[in-house]
Amino acid sequence: MLTSSHDKERLASWIKGAKSMVVLTGAGISTESGIPDFRSKNGLYQKQNAFYRSILENEYDRFYGFCKDLFGKYGDSQPNAAHEIMAKWEDESYVSAVITQNIDGLHQKAGSRNVLELHGTMNRASCMDCGKPAPARDFYEKIGCQYCGGRLRPDIVLFGDQLPEDILKRSFQYCQEADLVLVIGSSLIVSPACDLPFHSRGKKVLINKDEVDKKNMFDLLLYGSAGDILKDVDNFIE
Ligand code: NAD
Ligand code: ZN
Repeated sequence: MLTSSHDKERLASWIKGAKSMVVLTGAGISTESGIPDFRSKNGLYQKQNAFYRSILENEYDRFYGFCKDLFGKYGDSQPNAAHEIMAKWEDESYVSAVITQNIDGLHQKAGSRNVLELHGTMNRASCMDCGKPAPARDFYEKIGCQYCGGRLRPDIVLFGDQLPEDILKRSFQYCQEADLVLVIGSSLIVSPACDLPFHSRGKKVLINKDEVDKKNMFDLLLYGSAGDILKDVDNFIE
C-alpha cells in the first residue's frame, strides 16, 4: 500500500481550507520515536500487559515493575517529525486541538499546547489513598505520598479506570465542531476514542501503517509512515 502524492496534495488543500482541524493520535505516531505500539507485530501486547486496575490494586509490585521497566526504556524518548509538524501546524493555526490516546507526553515535548490526553500521562502521579498529586519521579523511585505516606500511581488510565470526564467531553465537542478530523497512527479499536472522529460532520482522514476495520468511514486514507507522509503534506501546504 502506497500513498500517492496526489492524495497528500489533496490533504494539504483540505487543511488549508479547514476552519477547524482536530487531530486524533494513537500509539502509531510514537513508534518512530522508538516506542512500540500495542497491536503491531512487535507491539507491547506481545509482552504481558499489566495496565489493569485490578493488577494495580492486588499486585502492586507487578504493576510497579511493569511501569518502571517501560519508563526506564521509553521515558527519555524524543518527539519525531510527526509530533513536530503537529506543533508547527498549531502555531500556524491549522490545528485547533490534538487529542491523544498516548501517555508518553511527546506532543507537549514537541511544543503542542492544546493537547487533550484521553488516557492520561506517565509524566504525572498521584496518591492512591488521598488522591493528591505527586511528582512522577516519586512513583518511579517508590517514594510514598508526601502528605499521607500512601502508595503512588502514575496518572494513566488503566483498563478498569474511568476516562477523565472533562477531557472526554471536550474531545467530543472539538470533534463535533471540526470540519476536518485527522487520525494518525491508531487502530481505532479502543473505545471511546475510536468513535470520536465520527462525531464530526466534516471530512475524516486516516494516516496509518496498516488497514483498520473502520477504513470505509474515512474520506481519505494515507498508508505509510506518519513522519514521511506528514513531511510531504507539510511541503504541499507551504
Ligand atoms: P494500536 O497499537 O492499537 O495501533 C497503532 C496503529 O498505528 C497500528 O494500526 C499501526 O499500523 C499504526 N502505526 C504504527 N507505526 C506507525 C507509523 N510509524 N506511522 C503510521 N502508523 C503507524 O494503538 P492505539 O490505537 O493508540 O491503541 C493503543 C492503546 O495503547 C492506546 O490506548 C494508548 O493509550 C496505549 N499506548 C500508548 C503508547 C504511547 O503512549 N506511546 C504506546 C503503546 C500503547
Ligand atoms: Zn496521600
